[in-house]
Amino acid sequence: MIFDKLQDYGCEQIAFFYDRESGLNSIIAIHDTTLGPAWGGTRLWDYDSEQEALTDVLRLARGMTRKASISGIDVGGGKAVIMAKPEQKTEALLRAHGRCVESFKGRFMTGEDVGIGVEDVEIMHTETEHVAGTKGVGDPSPFTAHGVVSGMRACAKDVYGTNSLSDLKVAIQGLGHVGYNLARELHKEGTELIVTDIRQELTERVSQEFGAQVVPPEEIYSVACDIFAPCALGATINDETIPKLTCTIVAGAANNQLKENRHGRLLFERGIRYAPDYVINAGGLIVIYMEKKGSSLEETMKAIEQIEDRIWEIISVSKESHKPTYEIADQLADERVLKAKEEREAGSGGHQG
Ligand code: NAD
Repeated sequence: MIFDKLQDYGCEQIAFFYDRESGLNSIIAIHDTTLGPAWGGTRLWDYDSEQEALTDVLRLARGMTRKASISGIDVGGGKAVIMAKPEQKTEALLRAHGRCVESFKGRFMTGEDVGIGVEDVEIMHTETEHVAGTKGVGDPSPFTAHGVVSGMRACAKDVYGTNSLSDLKVAIQGLGHVGYNLARELHKEGTELIVTDIRQELTERVSQEFGAQVVPPEEIYSVACDIFAPCALGATINDETIPKLTCTIVAGAANNQLKENRHGRLLFERGIRYAPDYVINAGGLIVIYMEKKGSSLEETMKAIEQIEDRIWEIISVSKESHKPTYEIADQLADERVLKAKEEREAGSGGHQG
């Protein structure tokens, strides 16, 4: 059963961890290390079952491989999930997870994700060097948001003929680390905002600071808008939500936005431009990579803004080939990894011969 899953996702390795003292239950998936060591955040979530956690970590890890690949970055993809309720997040639990990360000796590097903030990564850091986002740029979320804005520009240019977002109405679902920064950037540009979150203090803040209209969580799909930006959890593009959408563009930060691939096709058939999630939300990964390389902030911002060109290319190929954008992105991302694998194999064959 587990090996079938590894095969389905093309995942190299999966490791399960238990720590008696802290009660840690975590899974680390190393999806693919062809391009380099596996990078991916740690998610803390109260999963309903082990099955659900396993599927989530495998999907997220594969998404990281594709994100790095399509972004032209030389790292592989991985992910970690901790099965816990928010109140079970103790220092002991985070340190235990840090030791699990350390056991990979650099083959896996982690950072923040849903349920894990910069302060939690600092605690893991006491047990392992293999974490990102604790020093230097710190929280990568503003950079992720900046990349999302760049990706939105490509979609807007395609649909409305201009990459300016100032005359558009954007509906943001989730006002956490990325959603808040996205609202801030868009407000600066003059974009009209409609927002939602399950946490009232966050909607109040965005309403006060950026004049955003607030709607209840279940209404965000059907509000009249140009762009729907999912910035909460995954699988929000599904059979129930697609018929409600009034937007012409879906472009947001959440990972795994499509519940199933066929939902990407449904969007395509309805003429809705979908910016593939792992392409548009790569800003956080790019900033960490560029920092490790010693690049300047200017070079980093330039690299993040290239997300606009990448999304533009994907949309163009999608239109030419009459295929949904997610298919084009998967194809481009997987091709780069495959090519690198073939070159590596040819290279090692040469040495042996
Ligand atoms: P976060 O936990 O800070 O924010 C998520 C927000 O969504 C929270 O405020 C939460 O209350 C809200 N939310 C949850 N369920 C909701 C619902 N049903 N309706 C409305 N709001 C809801 O997480 P984040 O770091 O902002 O990341 C958001 C998404 O973007 C995640 O899917 C994450 O994996 C993805 N992502 C984040 C980064 C990054 O740099 N932080 C990078 C790439 C991808």
